[in-house]
Amino acid sequence: MKYVMDIDMNVQTNQFTGKQKLEYWNNSPDTLSRVFYHLYFNAFQPGSMMDTRSRRQGTISMGRGKDWDPRVRDRILNLKPDEIGYQKIKSLKMNGRAQSFKVLETILEVVLDKPILPHSKVVFDMEFEAQVPLQIRRSGRDNPTSKVRYSMSQWYPKMCEYDYEGWHPTPYVGREFYGVWGDFEVNITIDKRYIIGGTGILQNPNQIGYGYAEDGVKVRQPAGDKLTWKFAATNVHDFMWAADPEYVHKTRKVNDTVTLHLFYKPTNASAAQWEKVLDDAEKAFPFIEKTFGVYPYRQYTFIHGGDGGMEYPMATLLVSPGAWLHEWLHSWYHGVLGNNESLYGWMDEGFTSYAEDRVSAFLRGSSGFPYGGVYSGYYSLVKSGLEEPLSTHADHYNTNAAYGAAVYSKGAVFLEQLGYIVGAPVRDKILLEYYKQWMFKHPNASDFIRIAEKVSDIKLDWYKEYWIYSTKTIDYSIDSLWEEAGKTKIRLKKIGLMPMPIDLQLTFKDNSAEMHYIPMYLMFGEKQAEDETMPRKVYEPWKWTHDTYVIETDKKLTDIVLAEIDPSLRMADVDRKNNKLELKW
Ligand SMILES: [Zn+2]
Repeated sequence: MKYVMDIDMNVQTNQFTGKQKLEYWNNSPDTLSRVFYHLYFNAFQPGSMMDTRSRRQGTISMGRGKDWDPRVRDRILNLKPDEIGYQKIKSLKMNGRAQSFKVLETILEVVLDKPILPHSKVVFDMEFEAQVPLQIRRSGRDNPTSKVRYSMSQWYPKMCEYDYEGWHPTPYVGREFYGVWGDFEVNITIDKRYIIGGTGILQNPNQIGYGYAEDGVKVRQPAGDKLTWKFAATNVHDFMWAADPEYVHKTRKVNDTVTLHLFYKPTNASAAQWEKVLDDAEKAFPFIEKTFGVYPYRQYTFIHGGDGGMEYPMATLLVSPGAWLHEWLHSWYHGVLGNNESLYGWMDEGFTSYAEDRVSAFLRGSSGFPYGGVYSGYYSLVKSGLEEPLSTHADHYNTNAAYGAAVYSKGAVFLEQLGYIVGAPVRDKILLEYYKQWMFKHPNASDFIRIAEKVSDIKLDWYKEYWIYSTKTIDYSIDSLWEEAGKTKIRLKKIGLMPMPIDLQLTFKDNSAEMHYIPMYLMFGEKQAEDETMPRKVYEPWKWTHDTYVIETDKKLTDIVLAEIDPSLRMADVDRKNNKLELKW
């Protein structure tokens, strides 16, 4: 797919006109009689699905507050005509023939006069007009905190994804995105005083200047009140940009191929806080590439804008510097793997949160367990009684609270707990292999599990079924200990409905320790010892239908001072109190 867009922005009216040429390849084996586009800006109109759902969440109490997003609340309902957002389609042609279309709020449905045959290409030509909404959520103008004029995400009519599940005409109700891989040429004509950062690489830097021009080149801006910025991006699934006349623009080359850009205004954070992002990013980058895979683009841009932190291909919008690492790490998941985030938000937000915890521990030089936050987020979710399975569509969770905790925390726990099941070094190999094999291909949960199975030689379908498709929880306990013929027997009990392999560590009076490892039956495999220095006894698999399992050590009962299930804390056991038995003799 290839977009060529020419945009003419009026900074007085906050409206723009756009011409969009879209070369669309139907790479599927199916004949397409309709196509769908997203019209995200139409969500910012009173009574829209986003508005109505937000006000509905406002009726649900959550602790001391309400379940609605505090940025959205009932603000859409109160937008005036010059503050709403819209995208209006003026004309649409396919291969030069006018097509009829229907606007269904944030989705444009086009019934084609001739179907698109499998493995063939068509060209869509569209003319559209849009108004940039006052910033409510993610995109928009004049954010009151950052004072950034334009945060331009979800700003153009965007072709929906057609994949093995068919069309994904997902209305803009709350969150998360999915798009077609393609190339973009975006030419933005705007008031000469504005400075733009975004997805893609500026093609005419020496006509623009503003920190983009090549060293030693004299910038020659064309005459007139407006400048045309020409951006190009290849192999991305979206294009975002932001513009403000007061942006400070800094760059940092972090290796032979990659340059980081930073655009900020010292409004709600200092210049030093913003510029530290580049220092930290430069320091983290080799560790990130080694752990999660090679960044495939030449450029990445941190842009002050948006209303929180939000990821886009090759760039992020940050209302303040704090979320820079999280949003940058999205490049490896949202950006390069491009999961359908409506269905697999946890594979993006969860994996990104996991990576964020790991990289921030690296930056702090800390060797402690960095995932305490995501585990306690998951445990609170379980206690809240609001939990829904991770397989729930992102927009269909009953509460925003349950969505957030599930996708960010339970999704991050998924990876650290996978390390418990297969071993941390094997989990790390899985992450790299997954990235390598699925980059630019929209993997789903089963695709990840298959890579994990192949790399670990352990069956893991059960892990997906319990952790992702159910809300069943893990709880194992130490039931009883007794001595028999000079040996000690320990009975373990499975209380929770989700089965897991068990690491049981015994510590003795002389400070020595033993690991007792019981694989779970459905694994049809076992993890290797993670600590070579500790003796380890491997048992026959625990059948998940059986509630108890007895293990044995050659030591006497009175030699044992501590018995603990999973001292690594990686197994998300919802009641850890019964995991541990301290014996005082
Ligand atoms: Zn995120």
